[in-house]
Amino acid sequence: MVDQSFPPSRNAALSSLAQFAARGAHTYASGRNTDAGPDQPSAVSRLSPYVRRRIITEHEIVATVLTHHSLQAADKFIQEVLWRTYWKGWLEMRPAIWTRFLADRDLQRDAASDRRAISDAENGLTGIEGFDDWSRELIQTGYLHNHARMWFASIWIFTLRLPWALGADFFLRHLIDADPASNTLSWRWVAGLQTAGKTYLATKANIARYTNGRFAPDGLAREAIALREPPVEPPRALPTVAPYDARQPAVLLITDEDMHPESIFPDLSVFKAARVVVDPNLLWGDNARHFAHAAAADTVSRIASQVDGPVDLADRLDAKSLADAAEAAGVKRIVTPYAPVGPVADGLAHLALDLASRGIILDQVRREWDARFWLYAAKGFFPFKDRIPSVLRECGLT
Ligand SMILES: Cc1cc2nc3c(=O)[nH]c(=O)nc-3n(C[C@H](O)[C@H](O)[C@H](O)COP(=O)(O)OP(=O)(O)OC[C@H]3O[C@@H](n4cnc5c(N)ncnc54)[C@H](O)[C@@H]3O)c2cc1C
Repeated sequence: MVDQSFPPSRNAALSSLAQFAARGAHTYASGRNTDAGPDQPSAVSRLSPYVRRRIITEHEIVATVLTHHSLQAADKFIQEVLWRTYWKGWLEMRPAIWTRFLADRDLQRDAASDRRAISDAENGLTGIEGFDDWSRELIQTGYLHNHARMWFASIWIFTLRLPWALGADFFLRHLIDADPASNTLSWRWVAGLQTAGKTYLATKANIARYTNGRFAPDGLAREAIALREPPVEPPRALPTVAPYDARQPAVLLITDEDMHPESIFPDLSVFKAARVVVDPNLLWGDNARHFAHAAAADTVSRIASQVDGPVDLADRLDAKSLADAAEAAGVKRIVTPYAPVGPVADGLAHLALDLASRGIILDQVRREWDARFWLYAAKGFFPFKDRIPSVLRECGLT
């Protein structure tokens, strides 16, 4: 059951951003590692449920923070925002890492010899201080502080010695911001798979310090030996997308991967109809489902008066009914914001084939932000980070 900390609307997202922006420099940098507890004031922004579904965008977040601070002063926060972009770009070039995770999860789920240990870990019954509290907090609120996510993943892998893919799946089933790229690659990073050989070890002293003494668990693993895996394929080129042509009449399709069409398409009145689809089968858990459903209704109400035709809400990426909508609108083209690697991207790939067999083209439009930043996401974060100031300038942010 999700608490009301994340009202699922764009106005709520903008209001959270406005409240946070002035704290995006020193206050964030010095306090971001502290997790004072679920109901306590925090230095972090708690914007992830919104930016995950692009109810607000990375561009807007950075632009707003830069109205209060210089790029240098807000450096740490902006870098964190760019971690999301980087992970997405990295996975976009290595979709096999996502499918490998899914296969590993299924394998581990079937093979798990100690189901009791997994169930205890998920239900906060391990007896490990902090860890059990974070399990419950995650299930109840749909959110965990970044540091708690790191401690949790580290204890799951190195103290409890449970399969990392089942831990990543547990997060995906409960996080409101559940995200294929940020979640999978962060778990891989903790496990020593992402940066080969480099692991993250949670310690009693670090947990006590950054939870303000709330937790000081005993019995944690004293070393974190990196997990191993078969070699990762070299990166593929970014999939190409056709440039958006506003002169071609079309129907607009919005998925829960990107719910702010107003900032991609300069004029929504060129669309002859629009459909917002949140398919519950493409989301892992109820926390994310409830949030995305309500956010979809918010999107419909925002754009209804701007589109030159009917705007509706659906719960399936269904080719037949979309083709019917296109036919009723007298168009042969459906346009949708690009979906990065994950279930919605897979759903769109199938949809494109189905629509093509009905004579309708599905065009995905990639945001300028992704198109520019992803070019530098093929390698590690540090070379990517060096590009941040110049790419922000290219995006009109200085
Ligand atoms: C094991 C593990 C699993 C994670 N799973 C997810 C997930 O499923 N979905 C998800 O959105 N994030 C995930 N993260 C990243 C991060 O923990 C959250 O994005 C962050 O805690 C969100 O809280 P916030 O908005 O208050 O962050 P802030 O500290 O205020 O950061 C601002 C924004 O920067 C981005 N950001 C910050 N830290 C990270 C990071 N480490 N990686 C990527 N982006 C970041 C987010 O968009 C965030 O909203 C995971 C991290 C770990 C260690």
